[in-house]
This record gives sequence, structure tokens and C-alpha cells, in this order.
Amino acid sequence: MALPWYKDGLRFKCTECGKCCTGPSGFVWVSEEEMQAMADTLDISLELFKKKYVRHRDNRYALVERKTKGGDYDCIFLKDKKCEVYQARPQQCRIFPWWPENLKSEESWQSAAQECEGINPDAPLVPYSEIVKSLGS
Ligand code: SF4
Ligand code: SF4
Repeated sequence: MALPWYKDGLRFKCTECGKCCTGPSGFVWVSEEEMQAMADTLDISLELFKKKYVRHRDNRYALVERKTKGGDYDCIFLKDKKCEVYQARPQQCRIFPWWPENLKSEESWQSAAQECEGINPDAPLVPYSEIVKSLGS
């Protein structure tokens, strides 16, 4: 099978700007295990975590959002541009920006770069093997 367009790697380094944790309303989906890990980090019960921090949608759970004054939506765990549960953040957050929709084409990667300043020509090259590892993890 032919290798994808990003076979030579892609340039990215997270600047921890926090922008991917805010913006238009969306869904950060979380599993039971991920909720438990975040609850442990916050030192609260899973039951309380579910009550305070997740929404139930289509038989799945997604993190709650907080509407900002500017009309954007912050993830409930975004505080001073940092993630309050960083060590236990869900898989969906861990693998950003290596999401299939961002890697679909060069154009989608460029459009992800509009939102994520870590994607830029000066950032270090992330080898293809690492990108694939993130996708499969
Ligand atoms: S938008 Fe990009 S650079 Fe900023 S925190 Fe998210 S991944 Fe990192
Ligand atoms: S859990 Fe953390 S990394 Fe994920 S969207 Fe929320 S603040 Fe960002």
C-alpha cells in the first residue's frame, strides 16, 4: 500500500498555548477508564466526576464546556491556558494534532495549522513512524 502524503514526517511542536482546548463548541469524548484517571487526579469519586464534568451524549460521555465572555467554549479543565488534568488528559487530547481529519490531506493539515501554532515550518520534524504510533495508540 502506498505511504500517505506525510510519509516524510510533519513539523510540529506544542507551544502549550492552550488554543486546542477552546474555540467553537465541540466534544472531547472520554471513556470510563479516562474518567476514572481524571477523577483520581482530582482526588474525587467517579460518581462526582460524572456529575460535575461530563455530558451524556449518544451513549457516550464528553467533557463539559464553559462559555467564555467572547462567545467561545473552553474545556472545563482549561485554566490559565493550562490543562488541570494534564497527566490524565484523555486520548483525544493526547494525540492532537494527529487526528485523522487533520491528516487527510495537505490542505487539512494546513487548515489545522490555522488553529494550532505548533504546526509551523520552524517546528521540529516529527518522523512518520512517530505519527503512526500516535494514530494507533
Ligand atoms: S493549539 Fe497546538 S500548540 Fe497550542 S496547545 Fe494545542 S497542540 Fe499545542
Ligand atoms: S482535558 Fe485538558 S487537554 Fe483536553 S481539552 Fe480539556 S483542557 Fe485541553
